[in-house]
Amino acid sequence: MLDQLPELIDPVVFAERTSHLVGAIKLQRMSRLSEFLFEKEGDLKVDLHFYKEGKVPTIEGHIEGHLNLICQSCLKSLPWDVSKQVKIGMVQTIEQADRLESDLEPLVLTEDKMSFPSIVEDEVIIALPDFPRHTEPCMEYTNVEFVEPEVIEEESNNPFSVLAKLKNTGAQ
Ligand SMILES: [Zn+2]
Repeated sequence: MLDQLPELIDPVVFAERTSHLVGAIKLQRMSRLSEFLFEKEGDLKVDLHFYKEGKVPTIEGHIEGHLNLICQSCLKSLPWDVSKQVKIGMVQTIEQADRLESDLEPLVLTEDKMSFPSIVEDEVIIALPDFPRHTEPCMEYTNVEFVEPEVIEEESNNPFSVLAKLKNTGAQ
């Protein structure tokens, strides 16, 4: 069942029960990530295992999807693929975080329940390029891709369809 992933989870309980969350999360559920996006439609696919490694509640798995970032040179859409391996160790304090195995990324738990989309978006935000920009010259790219999405959606206000109607009337 895609899109039935929970909003709030207790990640420690999930780890104690050895859980597996698979599905898609809509980008609209990730407001902080959305600020980096040119196109806010779409989703990220997650496949995450919750389990205990020794005493440490751990989240391990994969996040992937296709994003359209904002090119910092031309402010147009910059396609960017996410493929992020995740291995998180959950801790209560910063001191515990310092003692984690080096292959574990620390997640300091501030409350029992955490937003699951928020955990996922943090992982993706970490993986974003510092300065997203087209590798090819921006002008070439935007000449091909430049489309105003609003105009396409508002068909009734499309000036060209009005012109087409006037033309038809005139011909009759
Ligand atoms: Zn650009």
